Amino acid sequence: MSESETNLVTRLEVEALEAARFRNHRMSMFTMVSNDYRVYGYDSTCLDCGMDVRVNPHPAPNQIDIGGEAVALNCGDSFTQGN
Ligand SMILES: [Zn+2]
Repeated sequence: MSESETNLVTRLEVEALEAARFRNHRMSMFTMVSNDYRVYGYDSTCLDCGMDVRVNPHPAPNQIDIGGEAVALNCGDSFTQGN
């Protein structure tokens, strides 16, 4: 029995929020990223620093299901800090 689309998206969103919260981000509600033909994923943005996290319930082989700056960097950090 396969996981329903809604359950899959919810599970990925919860995992993404937990990962972002671990890095002290305060994430917004997820919003769907789509065009007329397909859904690309669901985005959430940190209310404090603006980093984002995206979940992709159907990643291509070279993509990941959870990604974005907010799961890789601590809140307030930036790519250029210290360089
Ligand atoms: Zn943040």
